[in-house]
Amino acid sequence: MRRHRNVKIVATLGPASEDYDTIRALHEAGADVFRLNMSHSDGAHEGIVDKHRIIRQVEKDLNSPIAILADLQGPKLRVGVFANEEEELQNGAAFRLDLDEAEGDVTRVCLPHPEIFAALEPGSSLLVNDGKIRLKVTECGKDFADCVVVAGGTISNRKGVNVPDVMLPLAALSEKDRADLEFVCELGVDWLALSFVQRPEDVNEARELCNGRAAILSKIEKPSAVERFNGILAASDGIMVARGDLGVELPVQNVPPIQKRLVRTCRAAAKPVIVATQMLESMIDSPMPTRAEVSDVATAIYEGADAIMLSAESAAGSYPIEAVTTMDNVAREVEDDPTYTQIIEASRKASRTSVADGIVAAAREIAETTDIKAICCFTQSGTTALLTARERPRVPILALSSEMDTARRLGLSWGVNCVMTERLDRFKMAVLNAARAARTQGYASALDQIVVTAGVPFNVPGTTNILRVAPCQESLIYSTDRG
Ligand code: PGA
Ligand code: MN
Repeated sequence: MRRHRNVKIVATLGPASEDYDTIRALHEAGADVFRLNMSHSDGAHEGIVDKHRIIRQVEKDLNSPIAILADLQGPKLRVGVFANEEEELQNGAAFRLDLDEAEGDVTRVCLPHPEIFAALEPGSSLLVNDGKIRLKVTECGKDFADCVVVAGGTISNRKGVNVPDVMLPLAALSEKDRADLEFVCELGVDWLALSFVQRPEDVNEARELCNGRAAILSKIEKPSAVERFNGILAASDGIMVARGDLGVELPVQNVPPIQKRLVRTCRAAAKPVIVATQMLESMIDSPMPTRAEVSDVATAIYEGADAIMLSAESAAGSYPIEAVTTMDNVAREVEDDPTYTQIIEASRKASRTSVADGIVAAAREIAETTDIKAICCFTQSGTTALLTARERPRVPILALSSEMDTARRLGLSWGVNCVMTERLDRFKMAVLNAARAARTQGYASALDQIVVTAGVPFNVPGTTNILRVAPCQESLIYSTDRG
């Protein structure tokens, strides 16, 4: 399905968006990638199977590859339960966390994670309920932590706990995560998102379990992940700037500069990056976004993000379609702005290390020098399409692949429109297929020209070595190309 914008939209599915009509309408309104959040899924996975089936049905009905991203919960810490369900913690009061499974009260509650007590030190901060409550450790041992309440508030059953300044000795994947990973990989998802990644080894561990069944996306939501970002990026296929938890674990004003740096670094590495969380938060209950939200969405696009994401807005809000439409409208307006083109082009980093780097740069230059309607790249593993996207060309990128997995994964990448093609063995066939796809997908007419890039011999990954400026008219291709 041809989009009139380059940035991609990720929509999280949930109770507000779980039937065929809504999911199809979300895709038609502009959602390129659907996120399935495993945090809300128990062992039965019923809702996940249903949503997955519906997405694949929409994909088939609209003949348009759709990426599915399964987001693992990761090692999220939670307190136990309270006898009265909730308690009010006062500033300056003492509060104890321990391993005692008895119901909590205003003086203590269970934190059922023994590893955490070993890692805490006097002075460590603990944040409860998205950082609304702040505790400071005064004394701790192997099964308790005595704290003072620095910022009080209501604490209730199973609220989440963040421990920002400690590298947690937690396995990157909990038992639930491992079971979920195996389940979604077997079901067939395109991207696997890892929550609370702390080190590159966490990513490697998931990659081993995943064994090529999905691409791996690391969510950056811990200070330790920000510190070790380059290693994590090298180990990952994509990144999410997970601003929700990041803004709890770090002072919230640290998030914008980190977002900027991560987005740039990902683009230079030719790996897709998603900016996520609270992008249109007020649209959970309102059909209109705030001016500040529109500005935030626009900023992520001006920065060059590959994708912007909706969380509760599309999963649990009252206006999921309107939220996607809002993002689509903002994206078109920003991408139409000459300042956008200036910013994107000024931040392009020349990378000249391989033949493919040279080909994609040349494809962009030729396309922008003469009247070319699209850059059509044949890509098996997806690498050539990712490199072409890194160039951020002014003309559309049409990726052609014989691999459905590749076509779907590319759904997350800036500007990449993907169509399926049969396996080819001759370059002339590639040119014919590209011209046909450019015409039928509405990028070019028979009178137009396109740029085609491919690797010959075909079907050997990593061989991009041909660039051709081709007419879109079949008779012309036959008369000018004897290859
Ligand atoms: P979550 O991740 O929605 O799974 O918490 C995103 C974030 O923390 O921003
Ligand atoms: Mn998170």
